[in-house]
Amino acid sequence: MDYVNGPGRNHLFVPGPVNIPDQVIRAMSRNNEDYRSPAIPALTKVLLEDVKKIFKTTSGTPFLIPTTGTGAWESALTNTLSPGDRIVSFLIGQFSLLWIDQQQRLKFNVDVVESDWGQGANLDVLASKIAEDTAHTIKAICIVHNETATGVTNNLATVRKILDHYQHPALFLVDGVSSICALDFRMDEWGVDVALTGSQKALSLPTGMGIVCASPKALEATKTAKSVRVFFDWNDYLKFYKLGTYWPYTPSIQLLYGLRAALDLLFEEGLDNVIARHGRLAKATRYNIFLTLLLFIQACSYESCDLFLLAVEAWGLKNCTQKEEWFSDTVTAVIVPSYIDSSEIVRRAWKRYNLSLGLGLNKVAGKVFRIGHLGNLNELQLLGCLAGVEMVLKDVGYPVKLGSGVAAASAFLQNSTPLIPSRI
Ligand code: PLP
Repeated sequence: MDYVNGPGRNHLFVPGPVNIPDQVIRAMSRNNEDYRSPAIPALTKVLLEDVKKIFKTTSGTPFLIPTTGTGAWESALTNTLSPGDRIVSFLIGQFSLLWIDQQQRLKFNVDVVESDWGQGANLDVLASKIAEDTAHTIKAICIVHNETATGVTNNLATVRKILDHYQHPALFLVDGVSSICALDFRMDEWGVDVALTGSQKALSLPTGMGIVCASPKALEATKTAKSVRVFFDWNDYLKFYKLGTYWPYTPSIQLLYGLRAALDLLFEEGLDNVIARHGRLAKATRYNIFLTLLLFIQACSYESCDLFLLAVEAWGLKNCTQKEEWFSDTVTAVIVPSYIDSSEIVRRAWKRYNLSLGLGLNKVAGKVFRIGHLGNLNELQLLGCLAGVEMVLKDVGYPVKLGSGVAAASAFLQNSTPLIPSRI
């Protein structure tokens, strides 16, 4: 029984935890099993191979750790670095802030590059730090691929280019918690040394599994890394990988079967289609100049001005993300006018419309609300969310024309949604 029941389905649009598909829920609805029987190692072996595909790696070694994104961070850091090591880390929002806090508490020497919340990591500063560091004192670059608090996606290919340009050997550690399985992510091509995510984000599983992938260089670094690690020690996993039993401690049987089902769904849709779907839903959500322009072009090509009119009548609120190059395809943080408290929008959406939106966090608390559009989600679910947002905006006194954002988004989606790959 729910603690606070409501009729119909909850529209879950926080940027994680996200909706769990029915197929995954059914796959997890099972008894415990002996993880030392032949069945679980056999299942694990294939999972480890398949999980590499979501990182786009062939050379990486994955670890399925009973933890959350925060634990996955700790595993990445403590397995590859020693206390006192200099690392460069970018502060651009709440999750990069929390990772930096962890880095400092683990006693690394953190060189923080700060930007306004709403901006991406300042890679010009990175380039000058790397250029100056001819003695190679920087041991790692830590970057959050997608800052979930502000809806900002950083350009990882550029980080790799900078490191390669100066032939700098720093490890490249990436938080892909709100990006992997939703945004374009290429571990091998971008030379990422550790990539990580959490099960409750775009994989659309319950919380509880940290999925970490280490490059050969990162595995090599474990041999000299002096950080204390016990629960997160990759070597314990590697020992059991060699033995073919895979587990140093008890895995969640249900999550393993859930992961199997989640990967099957992703592969059935096709990872590239999944990424394209996230791009489409994100564009439909963004009611900004980009969408207006796009619809204008489309409207002209359809010899009708209707679409254009719908777009300009859309909400007229601002995206927290300051430049298009950083727009996130998994979460949109929406700035509200100063006379509105965005927390009230989130509260009312849940209380009145059974719609769960993301709160503004820390520096942007009360100023933004977030629409998470990641995971197992489709066009009509998104339109339901956008309709709810419009109603709640009106509730709190914002002069929105009901249906304006929905009309703009559905016009865009009607033009851009392909046939469902499995139904062609
Ligand atoms: N990194 C990012 C980008 C996140 O969005 C989050 C959580 O939302 C985390 C890390 C922390 O993950 P967890 O809450 O699973 O520990």
